[in-house]
Amino acid sequence: MFHANENYLKLPGSYLFSTVARKVNDYSRAHPEASIIRLGIGDVTQPLCPAVIEALHKAVDEQANGETFRGYAPDLGYEFLRHAIAEQDFRARGCEIADDEVFVSDGAKSDSGAIQEIFRQDARIAVGDPVYPVYVDSNVMAGRTGTYDAQTGLWSDVIYLPCTAENNFAPQVSTLLKADGTPDPEKTPDLIYLCSPNNPTGTAMTKPQLQEWVDYANKVGAVIIFDSAYEAYISEENVPHSVFECEGARTCAIEIRSFSKNAGFTGLRLGATIIPKDLKDADGTALHGLWARRHGTKYNGAPYIVQRAGEACYSEEGRAQIREMVARYMRNASFIRTSLSQMGYETYGGVNSPYIWLRARDNMTSWEFFDYLLEKANVVGTPGSGFGPSGEHFFRLTSFGTYENSVEAMNRIRAL
Ligand SMILES: *Cc1c(COP(=O)(O)O)cnc(C)c1O
Repeated sequence: MFHANENYLKLPGSYLFSTVARKVNDYSRAHPEASIIRLGIGDVTQPLCPAVIEALHKAVDEQANGETFRGYAPDLGYEFLRHAIAEQDFRARGCEIADDEVFVSDGAKSDSGAIQEIFRQDARIAVGDPVYPVYVDSNVMAGRTGTYDAQTGLWSDVIYLPCTAENNFAPQVSTLLKADGTPDPEKTPDLIYLCSPNNPTGTAMTKPQLQEWVDYANKVGAVIIFDSAYEAYISEENVPHSVFECEGARTCAIEIRSFSKNAGFTGLRLGATIIPKDLKDADGTALHGLWARRHGTKYNGAPYIVQRAGEACYSEEGRAQIREMVARYMRNASFIRTSLSQMGYETYGGVNSPYIWLRARDNMTSWEFFDYLLEKANVVGTPGSGFGPSGEHFFRLTSFGTYENSVEAMNRIRAL
């Protein structure tokens, strides 16, 4: 008789968003008259911009004609898109990235979940706490995280980097050092997952903070997996848009990019992973070749029409239209953040990201605060504890709703 992969059985049950959905469904069934405002969503709501729609139509028409029809895309992505990404997202910012160091994919979730495959089974991982759940869960599935302690919500073999109000929610290199400032061999990871601007805390690392991580990674021989899905939301000067803005990152970092939160491709699906050719393991093996091999074996390329849509994001009109979309979400973010602060809530984020992170009132737990807002204001958010134990007593609101709903939600919370 066959056996299922036992690593999957280790995953703790009840996924955060399904619990949220169940609670909201139960509530609206009991109170059909309630008009519920959902500020828990991590999905965009504005339609794709005209430049993208135009490129999609054109590419669809090409598929209708034998002369211009395209079948399988190149495994690693079409040249036109790899070039646009390397040129505009990296070289224009002074980051030395070649076109063929860009691997096009169907999104940042796939890549951030799959990247662990090219590392050894005993690789130790470090993650921020709280953080986007994919990094840990994909390593659980790979059997790399040891045992789960339901009491603490921690895995025995994962190194956690607590992100708290005290450190302004930025993972600290000092977590991995001994008292004398040297790396602690007990706590030296092989892979370090960093997400900045961060989901869920909405905060972003400064250039010096990220540089400190790059220096540390080069020193101990670790790889930084840098998720920059929210790069387009950065508004402050001292926040890096790419890990490759840091000196020395070519020998220690992989960057994962997405078209979802900036250009609204959550339904279309498109992303990219950047692996510099200088990134080599302890034996001199270049990860670039391994990821190329992995793509070649397990992936047949993002759809031609979607890659053309991605290219359109880099045209002059496309860039202007995307900036406009991001600005509209950021207007909500700014409104939510300011309103909550005025009400006396301790708030973070919302300046370089679409997420607002707030401390629950009256020392409520994240889930108590979730129930309180749902029942008393009919407003739905996301409990911070669902993203990691350090998220307890915090709560995430998103600016992906409409402006009207953001205003109404704040009015209701103010009235409590
Ligand atoms: C939404 C999100 C992603 C997913 O991006 P896709 O390109 O849609 O797969 C990746 N990382 C973080 C941190 C996210 O919040």
